[in-house]
Amino acid sequence: MTDLPVNQVNARQGWALAPEAREGMDYDVVIVGAGPAGLSAAIRLKQMAAEAARDISVCVLEKGSEIGAHILSGAVIDPIAINRLFPDWKEMGAPLETEVSQDRFLILGPAGALPLPNLILPPLMKNHGNYIASLGNIARWLGEQAEALGVEIYPGFAAAELLFDDTGAVRGVATGDMGVSKAGAKKDGWTSGMELLAKYTLLAEGVRGSLSKAAIAHYELDKTSDFQKFGIGIKELWQVESAKHKPGYVQHTLGWPLDNKTGGGSWMYHFGDNFVSIGFVIHLNYQNPHLSPYDEFQRFKMHPAICSTLEGGKRVSYGARAITEGGYQSVPKLAFPGGALIGCAAGFVNLPRIKGSHNAMETGMMAAQAAFEALGEGRAHDELVAYQQAYDSSRVAKELKMTRNVKPLLSKFGTVLGTLLSGIEMWMRTLRIGLPFTLGHVRPDHATLKKASECNPIDYPRPDGEVAFDKLSSVFLSATNHEEDQPAHLTLKDPAVPIAVNLCDYDEPAQRYCPAGVYEIITGDDGENPRLQINAQNCVHCKVCDIKDPSQNINWVVPEGAGGPNYPNM
Ligand SMILES: Cc1cc2nc3c(=O)[nH]c(=O)nc-3n(C[C@H](O)[C@H](O)[C@H](O)COP(=O)(O)OP(=O)(O)OC[C@H]3O[C@@H](n4cnc5c(N)ncnc54)[C@H](O)[C@@H]3O)c2cc1C
Ligand code: SF4
Repeated sequence: MTDLPVNQVNARQGWALAPEAREGMDYDVVIVGAGPAGLSAAIRLKQMAAEAARDISVCVLEKGSEIGAHILSGAVIDPIAINRLFPDWKEMGAPLETEVSQDRFLILGPAGALPLPNLILPPLMKNHGNYIASLGNIARWLGEQAEALGVEIYPGFAAAELLFDDTGAVRGVATGDMGVSKAGAKKDGWTSGMELLAKYTLLAEGVRGSLSKAAIAHYELDKTSDFQKFGIGIKELWQVESAKHKPGYVQHTLGWPLDNKTGGGSWMYHFGDNFVSIGFVIHLNYQNPHLSPYDEFQRFKMHPAICSTLEGGKRVSYGARAITEGGYQSVPKLAFPGGALIGCAAGFVNLPRIKGSHNAMETGMMAAQAAFEALGEGRAHDELVAYQQAYDSSRVAKELKMTRNVKPLLSKFGTVLGTLLSGIEMWMRTLRIGLPFTLGHVRPDHATLKKASECNPIDYPRPDGEVAFDKLSSVFLSATNHEEDQPAHLTLKDPAVPIAVNLCDYDEPAQRYCPAGVYEIITGDDGENPRLQINAQNCVHCKVCDIKDPSQNINWVVPEGAGGPNYPNM
């Protein structure tokens, strides 16, 4: 455990009401985050309690205005976890309606596309037997099942603070106060945050959760694991002309518009009512600070092999989210006194498969099992060692182990050679002749940028307004909303750094990596006196600034509950 004073592991500091004035509620298990991981844990706890005729109280907090409002994913779903949670999910009406029917992998050049024969793809990268869906809608459905089992779910409530007991164990979380002004004063309608106290607290915040980040640092959970690695995923949902819609069609691309040193690729999934989910992932270890992931995605859509599907269609939603990419060697220690990390808060995405929701669900279920047994033995606030043990010998760990060298090979050798070597590695492992070592992640993503003066600026084409769009009209489609008069949720450790360091050395890359145009450098009429303006109300909660800021000066903390995007079906 680090010696940090407790207030340093609190997400929001300096303006909350004194803790002793807050009301508290007691539960057996409190879960932070109503995503696939958190809801699967809640459901499994209640299922086991029902089977054993025991009463277990479970509460789930969700910062989005409703379940699914902040969830963004591809998503091609491997049904292995939902099969285990609800074997009869089809009869129950789970929103996994479109089975994958066709799987294509293309290498893009500036004008053409080279399809890779499916035969050369390692079996684990094939998608037959999987389903295309909106993960937000799956979460909504899981939420209904959880509530029917008696789970208390509170959307619109962000967990802002970890609470500790005298022994240093987590004893629950506190939600933030509502109705606090930018300056930290109480406004009309102010209400105090609540303390949600629990025997076990499961952190299911997804990628780069603010409390998970604090818990990992406080308990040094990543002491023996590699750095976590990340990508940014930018997604649009389109409704295309019915003649162009191929239900069940799955397409991935590598190559253009990225250069060989910049990792990433695209997806396009056809599902539902003429829907096409299209998006682009860029690995956050990119080096050129002039790069704009948003503009790369817009440029990608102009490729002839891509725009032909979108032309004549309608873009219905937009959003962005970070994705974990570190895999097996980056998974931190999972349990700490009084709680555990589940799902992408720990990072169980299988990068070459671009899938993590099944592993998020399964780790939620494993933690639930361990918590259920501990509660049955009358325990509380200790470490759920059984969860760690279950994970270590689980299908999830085996799946991640199979692909553990892919990301390091891509980072070291670039897209062309890295993909070739990764393909060979994955085939060898499939044939059970894998290399007996694990390659490490050498640097965290915030440390990979070169100086702006060492890199070429990138000239992005102007969006045409039909297939490619500007940032602000995109953010509008994410239906993002925050109360404007509230304390900053994009906090700067040192307000001088954005200009003194980031602008001087890196041309302040936040202007470009933020997919919502939150960070702007403003100058006077004479072009002098630059300052950073933070348009926090536009933030879509992707967490990329917290990850990629080269000075690690930005700390993302939760805004007032219900603020953020309102994704309908992402
Ligand atoms: C671009 C992209 C494409 C992907 N494609 C696929 C795919 O095709 N197939 C696949 O299987 N996986 C895919 N994934 C991965 C998948 O989305 C994740 O593995 C999965 O969402 C993880 O589930 P989770 O429950 O851990 O976290 P999340 O789904 O992120 O859910 C976390 C929830 O917690 C809430 N929350 C966070 N912090 C707090 C707080 N402090 N207080 C209250 N609530 C909080 C959030 O609002 C959110 O609702 C993709 C991910 C991305 C980003
Ligand atoms: S401010 Fe940060 S978290 Fe918000 S959208 Fe921009 S990069 Fe993402």
